[in-house]
Amino acid sequence: MEIEIFKKDDRELKFLVRGVSVPLVNALRRIFISEMPSMAVDYLKFYKNNSPVFDEIIAHRVGLIPLNNASEIYITPEECGCKEGCEKCSVTLSLEKSGPCTVYSRDLVSGDPDIHPMLEDIPITKLGEGQELKFDAVARIGTAEDHAKWQIANAAYKYVPKLEFNLEKCDFCEECVPKCPKEILYKEKDQIKVKDIYECTMCRACEETCEQGVIKISYENDAFIFFVESYENMNVNDLVSKALDMLSTKLDNLKNLVETI
Ligand SMILES: [Zn+2]
Repeated sequence: MEIEIFKKDDRELKFLVRGVSVPLVNALRRIFISEMPSMAVDYLKFYKNNSPVFDEIIAHRVGLIPLNNASEIYITPEECGCKEGCEKCSVTLSLEKSGPCTVYSRDLVSGDPDIHPMLEDIPITKLGEGQELKFDAVARIGTAEDHAKWQIANAAYKYVPKLEFNLEKCDFCEECVPKCPKEILYKEKDQIKVKDIYECTMCRACEETCEQGVIKISYENDAFIFFVESYENMNVNDLVSKALDMLSTKLDNLKNLVETI
């Protein structure tokens, strides 16, 4: 396996991977988007709400506020087995505000100093003169298999494109060059060249323009461009190493199962 990193910061990672199959990269993608545990608000107990926004809409908005990942500290409600939630499997974030003001994610006061919203400026609602909002929000560990609010990353992959030129047929009309929406084709001396093949989206605009059939677009079977974006809950480095650990555990489990059979 060969890996080349194109872009990397705290939030995003884009890399090229060679020598792997579609099922393997797809298994990794599915772990990122739906199987990584994270903390999110699961339900709210309202004590007062005479704001212009219904309880259900506020609950939905609060549920989508990203919290820092606490999957190492807390256990899931299923593992815990309690019904109402206890200190091992849940944390309560309280909010009490009266208008006129805008209520933001930073107004949530957490029962555990280790759990807090990752972004402070997410508006929840506006309160007018005499309006009040008071609730307790209970956050729990879950995965995006149950609800998108537990999703902590986005991941996608695409095939590595391959452009082949049959220069014997080419009359160098250059019509293909301006047709490329990514502007990766250019003419150098008597040849059409490609600037950055990884930018190609395989739209086939160049192939369709060329009446002589000079250009042929295909893709490599064992190479992929993989993209991961963290939703702030976790540094992308930790995210990738955790996802790889999970994939490795799943493969070990599968191996054991097959051996048992
Ligand atoms: Zn519990």
